[in-house]
Amino acid sequence: MEQMTICPHCGGNACYEQQVTEEVTTNFCFGCGFSTSTMMKVNSRLLTETLDTSPSLYKDLMYTDDKDQVWFPATVTLPEKGMVFLDGTSKEKWKWAAVKAVEILEEEKAKFPKDQKFKMDTKNTQFFEQRDFMDALDAIHFFDLEPDII
Ligand SMILES: [Zn+2]
Repeated sequence: MEQMTICPHCGGNACYEQQVTEEVTTNFCFGCGFSTSTMMKVNSRLLTETLDTSPSLYKDLMYTDDKDQVWFPATVTLPEKGMVFLDGTSKEKWKWAAVKAVEILEEEKAKFPKDQKFKMDTKNTQFFEQRDFMDALDAIHFFDLEPDII
């Protein structure tokens, strides 16, 4: 089951909610680029693990909604299309970075695992303003996908 809902973080109406299992529902907001799930609760083990493995900027930007669910900036990785992730130095100073995937050239193939066909073209990273998460997704052709892959 999936639907668009109002995002408690940015107030926009492009928050994609998907019930993954009976107990777990995930939220991914196309407006602000933040996401959460019903497992990402205050004091949960998942939250502790996420905080342990995330850059400190993520801690500064995390947001707790009125259901005690914690939202973080999303990282989108589509191996054959590209990546969108948050890049910055402080709570105020950050942007969305979009990196397109490009095909690995014949002469570079030795540097990559055998069946890998694409690499992230990090030399051509594009940056987008905080409110332009959707443009960043567009830059990697995210919306060409079938909606249920999200
Ligand atoms: Zn939002």
